[in-house]
Amino acid sequence: MTKLPTDSNQPLSLIYLDANATTQVLPQAAAAALTTMETIFGNPSSSHVTGLQAKQIMDNTREQAKRIVGAGAGKIIFTSGATEGIQTAILSALTSAKKNLDNPLVKDKNYCLLYGATEHKAVPESLKHWNEILEINATVKAIPVDEMGRLDMDFIAAEVPNALMICTMAVNNETGVYQDINLLDNTIRANNPNVAWMVDCVQALGKTTVNLCETSIDYAPFSGHKLYAPKGIGFMYVKENSAFTPFIAGGGQESGLRSGTENLPGLAALSVIFDMLLGKGDTCFATVNTLDLYRQQMVSALTQAFPEIVFNNSFENSVATTINFAIPGFSSKEIMDLFDAANIRVSSGSACSSKVTRSFVLDAMGLPAWQSESAIRMSFGPAMTQAQIDLACNRIISTAQALQQSCLIIDKQNTSTNTAVDKTELDGLLQFKVGGSCSWLYVDKASNSAVIIDPLPEVSDRLQTLLTCQGLNLVAIIDTHGHADHKSCRDSIVNTRLTEQASDALGWPEDTQNITINDRDYQYILLGKKWLIKAATPGHTDDSISLILSEPLKNSADSLLVHYAFCGDLILMDSLGRTNFPTSSAPAMFASLQLLSDLIGTQSLICPSHDYNNEFTTSISAEMSRNLLLKQVINNEITPAKFSTHKYTMDKKIIDESGSEIMCGAIIGACDNKPVDEYDSASLAEAMKSSNTIKLIDIREPHEYALQHDDNFATNVPLTRLVQYVQEHKQEKQEKLVLVCRSGSRSQLAAQALSRLGFKQVGHLKGGYALHHY
Ligand code: PLP
Repeated sequence: MTKLPTDSNQPLSLIYLDANATTQVLPQAAAAALTTMETIFGNPSSSHVTGLQAKQIMDNTREQAKRIVGAGAGKIIFTSGATEGIQTAILSALTSAKKNLDNPLVKDKNYCLLYGATEHKAVPESLKHWNEILEINATVKAIPVDEMGRLDMDFIAAEVPNALMICTMAVNNETGVYQDINLLDNTIRANNPNVAWMVDCVQALGKTTVNLCETSIDYAPFSGHKLYAPKGIGFMYVKENSAFTPFIAGGGQESGLRSGTENLPGLAALSVIFDMLLGKGDTCFATVNTLDLYRQQMVSALTQAFPEIVFNNSFENSVATTINFAIPGFSSKEIMDLFDAANIRVSSGSACSSKVTRSFVLDAMGLPAWQSESAIRMSFGPAMTQAQIDLACNRIISTAQALQQSCLIIDKQNTSTNTAVDKTELDGLLQFKVGGSCSWLYVDKASNSAVIIDPLPEVSDRLQTLLTCQGLNLVAIIDTHGHADHKSCRDSIVNTRLTEQASDALGWPEDTQNITINDRDYQYILLGKKWLIKAATPGHTDDSISLILSEPLKNSADSLLVHYAFCGDLILMDSLGRTNFPTSSAPAMFASLQLLSDLIGTQSLICPSHDYNNEFTTSISAEMSRNLLLKQVINNEITPAKFSTHKYTMDKKIIDESGSEIMCGAIIGACDNKPVDEYDSASLAEAMKSSNTIKLIDIREPHEYALQHDDNFATNVPLTRLVQYVQEHKQEKQEKLVLVCRSGSRSQLAAQALSRLGFKQVGHLKGGYALHHY
């Protein structure tokens, strides 16, 4: 494998581009915190000298904070972080509102609580929480934003007269989009002079100017750990005379506004950061102009690396330190894995919903679903340096080269000369999964030909790119049946690659050859020396077919070596395809199951068109051990009529998840994941010391592996090629295997799959490379 031009053969240095999540503590701030832990460790409430010294640090930090945020006559209260500040502001505003609501004149009005639709979750969740706890029963309403993330002023003007509180944010954490505070101020106050207004300023500090006393903002929470101070320290601004209710009562610290002994180490660190913001001492903070230049450089590196990139935030109205983008054809998880392999930390900027990760912020901005599902956020802070930006840009180019090497993107500038990166040649079976569905690509390298089975629209571009990049001749693209839950993308690929080929409705070519197996005739097409045999296997639908990839031994059809059986929805992992569609037939499925078993035997690998439980592949024998009905069919222990009755009852249980994926098979039992051995760094080292037969398998994708790996540590078997590994290592099921990946989740799935398929000694490294240093 070609070495990519990443920094060196040494472990790659860390490039941290996730400052909006949190930042490292700067050494000067850490040193100040340490001094307050070891030397000036007093309690600011103590009246002795050590206490007075501590109090001085606290008072000084408060004065600095006032200057930095332009607090004027407003108060600064130290908190544990912004979430506490948000609670305090909301509790204060709603407690005060509640008192007024007790007035019978206003009691029955239809009140609302307003918040920006792209607000950090801490805001709507706290609003709902205190609305319920305080029994205010106002309607909690999200203020819509436009496609640039700007709040809808007309909505505010219309709704704010009935609002008990309005919560907005200065700078968005996912997109860096800032709001026009003056415009907001005017709109709010023109329509409701007294409503309590909170502005979440967490992501604004150090990135844009904040001058609170010039506004009518009542509350503004801030957080230390977003700007190089430790976690656990924050502060909030409260306008003079704005309502206030302590969130934490107790010893009366912070003038009774927030009890609890103050976090002096945090305050000392914050004080150092404040000095830097004020341009004092050895400040290392870049100016807003410099940050802007950094963004330009990053954007141009990203565009060079991924020419198709789409930016999700408009740079016109966002701070320079946040770049949010999507790369067509790649999920955010794939890009996260890729960047993590290159030791670049970014964030997917998304919350995990039931199936796909997507960003509610980008959804609120009305961006297309794919941009929301593929969103990546890169963020840095004012301590960023030119050297770090240069390194980041170079490393980003390396990640693109790794994708080119894997043929997942094509370097359009270099295709003619093709000098840039050596491509890894494909040979064998690749599995592409989208949610619970699968597409399969089989490549026969010797004949330079390929076949695609059950092509999903989401992988259409990827399949096309792979074919082009590998220079493969597509022999056929076939669906195993007309899918009810998704549209096949066969036509789009046929239209560009197989224009000359006549085929039936599922893509089976007209020009085929025939063989006789067990007295029945079957058609087959050639893939180099391999045969792809078609067997009609109706049941799930009347058009269902199974495609059997096999090799004639001794050049004779009498002895076929079956590699894989692509059986659509006939047999699924832990289930059988449903038979309650209009064209389904349970008796036909009974016959099809017996036919398939006769053709491929019980040990051949089955590659269905669904994999709901991340099991990758199966065999009739593996299914018979947990699927009694299938076992009875194969062993002829049940009649077709009885099978149909059972099947009818099972199919009735299938829940159609309307609007999402239709479950294509009746789930028979709960997923029976076998426990596999789990290693940590120490137990793996110990196991390797006592046995030299342990085989370590890195199951990350080839582009991740190419970016950083140690040949002496593990060999690469990508998860997309796990099925091929199973096929090629059928005879080696006694081997001691330990699987490893980035975080331990892919390795766990793969280990469980191997164990279920009869691999006897398989384990995985819990926590993956993230927790294990080799
Ligand atoms: N508000 C915004 C905009 C944020 O980005 C965050 C942190 O992610 C918070 C609030 C919560 O801050 P903290 O972690 O200090 O509680």
